[in-house]
Amino acid sequence: APSPKQQEKAKATPPDPPLPRQNSKTTPPSPPKVITDKNRVVEYHRVGFLGEGGFARVYEVRDIRGTRLACKVVTKTSLKTKKAKTKLYAEIKIHRSLAHPNIVRFHDCFEDDDNVYMTLELCHSGSLMDMLRRRRRFTEPEARFFLVQIIGACHYMHSHQVIHRDLKLGNLFLDANMNIKVGDFGLAALIENPGERKKTICGTPNYIAPEVLFDTANGHSFEVDTWSIGVILYTLLIGRPPFQTKDVKEIYTRIRDNIYEFPADRRISADARESIQSILTPDPQKRPTLLEIIASSFIDLGVVPPFIPLSAHDAPPDFR
Ligand code: ADP
Repeated sequence: APSPKQQEKAKATPPDPPLPRQNSKTTPPSPPKVITDKNRVVEYHRVGFLGEGGFARVYEVRDIRGTRLACKVVTKTSLKTKKAKTKLYAEIKIHRSLAHPNIVRFHDCFEDDDNVYMTLELCHSGSLMDMLRRRRRFTEPEARFFLVQIIGACHYMHSHQVIHRDLKLGNLFLDANMNIKVGDFGLAALIENPGERKKTICGTPNYIAPEVLFDTANGHSFEVDTWSIGVILYTLLIGRPPFQTKDVKEIYTRIRDNIYEFPADRRISADARESIQSILTPDPQKRPTLLEIIASSFIDLGVVPPFIPLSAHDAPPDFR
């Protein structure tokens, strides 16, 4: 059966009560301490646990040269259905086709009797979600820095016919130099024919574009990522997502009716506000393009720092 997070991802209308996390009975056995790609005689030593998602657990591993990597492990028991296999193969096919400085690099994939393994670039510093929890909100220069990198990665994906469809703070990882690495291609879609529209309702409630939920006949395309970037920008500056409420159905109503506020106690510049408002345009055809966002006064006339100091993990940097 699909795990709670998968179910949440797959359905527009989520199950009524939040489902419990996987309990110990359903937690699969750990992968071996030494993970071996038999075909290529490559060994990876499992050195730590990084996190778990919908259907994968992610470990830190070291190859024989000592290079540290992340290793995403999917148990074969979770791949019994054709649908689960198709989904994983799609993720692998899409992710391995991408190479960009702001996208988690896909190294390799292989299997043993029990698991499928994907080795990925290791992101040492957690996600923007973890960092936002510590910082509560970001300064505008930091938001510009992150936005420029996210848009760069997104523009690259789109020019390779890939829609990510799950851009959110938790999928934006940071490397040791505070650069963005977009990860988790589990919901990504490849547009194989120009003009093709996607119909599957998927995403994470707070970040879903209105056309995914409410224009199911017509479908959706690349513009859904732009919408998520608007939600990300708002969240970076205000500290919580714009349409957030406890009740998921109410989130969807707010997304449909474009209801969100700029709280008076969190001052943001007029340019930032205008940028968010223009990105969160309900009609995907009227939404700005990625290049238009880059050319907007928020980015173009504001300070874009050349790098973010490591101290920013815990305290706002002073950009002048
Ligand atoms: P799923 O596709 O099952 O949702 P994710 O790709 O989101 O799995 O990974 C689950 C968790 O593992 C993430 O939230 C993160 O904590 C960790 N993780 C994933 N990829 C990496 C990576 N490249 N480097 C470091 N940690 C990672």
